[in-house]
Amino acid sequence: MKFHRQTRKRYYEDGFLGSCQASVIKIEADMIELDATVAFPEGGGQEADHGTITLDNGSVLRFIDARKMYGHSPGIDGFPDVQVGGVIWHKVHPDDVSLLNQVRIHDSVTVHIDVDRRAWLTLSHTASHILYVAVAAVRPDAVQATLGCHIRSDGARFDFGVNERFTPDQVSQIEAYANDLVLCDAAITMSAHPQEPDLRSWHCEQHRIACGGTHLDRTGPVGRLVVKRKSLGAGKERLSCSFPDAVVDTARFG
Ligand SMILES: [Zn+2]
Repeated sequence: MKFHRQTRKRYYEDGFLGSCQASVIKIEADMIELDATVAFPEGGGQEADHGTITLDNGSVLRFIDARKMYGHSPGIDGFPDVQVGGVIWHKVHPDDVSLLNQVRIHDSVTVHIDVDRRAWLTLSHTASHILYVAVAAVRPDAVQATLGCHIRSDGARFDFGVNERFTPDQVSQIEAYANDLVLCDAAITMSAHPQEPDLRSWHCEQHRIACGGTHLDRTGPVGRLVVKRKSLGAGKERLSCSFPDAVVDTARFG
């Protein structure tokens, strides 16, 4: 069932928007809901943005998490486990909770995200897909058995439910495939489902991945990818990637 409110997701309109105006919809003990936000809420493995909310009296509240609440299942094939619609809650820093009593419903505020953190998360998320298409090329069985992923600002990892280990040779092949895709500086685009704008896909060359995260528009800035394997016990393997030569462009955020 569709929730009766929906936050306007400005990060889908422009992935390089660093701030926006918004109006206060709801205030709870330590959270604030706005009618629009640039803050990406945790989802699809990507960590949430952090940032600030500036009140019209000049007070600044820091937020340390953003969460999507009351989404609904779209019931469209090809997008498993995705919730669309819903509202986004900004969790206020414990030291700034007392400032919430200055906030009134319908107040206009400005939301800023920490663009350095977002730039790294965007780059890391892009790197994770480059790793994933490389795994698909070398070990398609592992992609079929994906258990989850986690995208931090300094690296990303996937867990796979496979009995057959990744051999050192396969890890080298995966790393080489991924680095070829980085070196050719391939274009990346995002598309939205015609019936449901929150259902988004990542495209790079012939590859498509259903994904609602934030991404670079080229592979090149990721730089050299280093891929590592770790065993998580019987039937479980982890691949992680880091990008020691990456360069982020925070100047792109308006
Ligand atoms: Zn993605």
